[in-house]
Amino acid sequence: MALIPFDDRDGFIWWDGKMIPWRDATLHVLTHGLHYASAVFEGERAYNGNIFKLEAHTERLITSGRLLGFEIPFTAAQINAACNEVLAANGLIDAYVRPLAWRGSEQLAVSAQMTKIHLMVACWPWPNLFGADRMKGVRLGMAEWRRPHPQTAPTASKAAGLYMIGTLSKHAAEAEGFDDALMLTWDGFVGEATGANIFLTIDGKLHTPTPDCFLDGITRRTVIGLAKARGIEVVERHIPPADLEIATEAFLAGTAAEVTPVRQIGTRQYQPGPITEALLGDYEALVRMTPADVAKRAA
Ligand code: PMP
Repeated sequence: MALIPFDDRDGFIWWDGKMIPWRDATLHVLTHGLHYASAVFEGERAYNGNIFKLEAHTERLITSGRLLGFEIPFTAAQINAACNEVLAANGLIDAYVRPLAWRGSEQLAVSAQMTKIHLMVACWPWPNLFGADRMKGVRLGMAEWRRPHPQTAPTASKAAGLYMIGTLSKHAAEAEGFDDALMLTWDGFVGEATGANIFLTIDGKLHTPTPDCFLDGITRRTVIGLAKARGIEVVERHIPPADLEIATEAFLAGTAAEVTPVRQIGTRQYQPGPITEALLGDYEALVRMTPADVAKRAA
């Protein structure tokens, strides 16, 4: 498949309050965010022109910035509007939306108190992280890198720097023929994949790791709500890797991954079963509900 480089596309990018042509959205090489990873971002998905859980993503973006010690100079309402405007400017209704905030180039050292905080929002078509074959289930290799202890990194932030070990882990898994990597937590429990949370079914209940050193994903919380609405018991706990052997189903949940069945972790195989299928269907129906449908359902 031919790769279309991200710096050479048609379209528009929202940058610090202005909509500019895609190819003009370039940055100086001496930017603090590039050298010191002083950047936070979001990953959102629009379905039929509605960005699913937009407000929650914007709140997390603002919180992520605060966890890195900076305040994004736009209100939540302005950020929400920017996301919707960039979608419209690009003529997209089903798309991935990527806001990013970063420290600028006024100073380039570890201390960078005077740097300006910038915000951009881009969007592009991105059907699913794992592509068309995902319904067969994806295969996860075990990562060598672990999710860091919350005292060693701002783990609740969707911070660019936390993806360094994600890329290393995913590349290592792909080199071995897997689709993604399962990362353990710093203390050896099941953590998450490199861009999505994990769920297991054990004895008819849904088990998912307590998110105390990695993102408590918006999709994760949505899936927990959908499971409870179906009367499925949800257990959030520290899951030892040995429990991967007794689990009967496994799936990933994330904005880019959506709900994706897992058919293998390490050497253990799984069949996408009834709980995965039910929650996958519920999630696909929910994301495609219009705001009017949601209001009607709540009434
Ligand atoms: N963990 C990581 C490392 C991620 O990158 C993501 C995607 N943002 C998730 C979990 C899932 O988060 P969400 O459901 O909010 O997209």
